[in-house]
Amino acid sequence: MLEIQQIPVLSDNYVYLIHSLERGQTAVVDPAVAAPVLDAAKRLGWRITHILNTHHHPDHVGGNLEIKAETGCRVIGPRGEGDAIPGVDERVGEGDTVTLGAASAAVIEVPGHTRGHVAYWFAADRALFCGDTLFALGCGRLFEGSAEQMWASLSKLKALPAEARVYCAHEYTQANGRFALSVEPNNPLLVARMRRVDSQRAQGRPTVPSTLGDELATNPFLRPDSPEIQRTVGVSGPDPAAVFGAVRARKDGFRG
Ligand code: ZN
Ligand code: FE
Repeated sequence: MLEIQQIPVLSDNYVYLIHSLERGQTAVVDPAVAAPVLDAAKRLGWRITHILNTHHHPDHVGGNLEIKAETGCRVIGPRGEGDAIPGVDERVGEGDTVTLGAASAAVIEVPGHTRGHVAYWFAADRALFCGDTLFALGCGRLFEGSAEQMWASLSKLKALPAEARVYCAHEYTQANGRFALSVEPNNPLLVARMRRVDSQRAQGRPTVPSTLGDELATNPFLRPDSPEIQRTVGVSGPDPAAVFGAVRARKDGFRG
């Protein structure tokens, strides 16, 4: 059993503390900064034993060295990111398992946003930490990968159980949703979800985590089979990666 705490930092990042009750170990996922994370752990009485990084961007690793110096924790990062993860002790990739107390996470390689990006899947707890690969109603930009690669990565995440909770690294949901409505305005589940998102945000509440089931039903980046999306982006045919790529390109130019 894991306890998960969400810490909002910077303008729209989420850092997560994952605590294993059994052995008192605690991991931090993608510490953008150190101070609010150390404060939260202290308040909770949790000793940080691990950092899990999904990729090398500064808003995901900025707190690594300070947290490591303060706690002596072990830094685990993607094998495919070379030396870009500050303080890395252990490099992981597809098929590796990360152990936290009695819990464990499968490492899933999800290149596209960056070339070595990984996700951590705690299957028994149905918790997915996917960094900047899959967002609530969106997906990460293709900084270091192709649409084909990102589609292959998202396809791995799509195959997880629908009840999986998606702990992504940013509160981008409302802006993502405006774009989603522009490509699939007649999806009633999307319209209903956006109403909920708008009211959550109006109350200053997080819209993350979502569930994979919600994403499958409403996230345009997971829905290349939708005839409405295919019509909007002007790409149809048998290749889902081509439709995905067209949706991604349209989002890059979208000014909502
Ligand atoms: Zn990033
Ligand atoms: Fe980020």
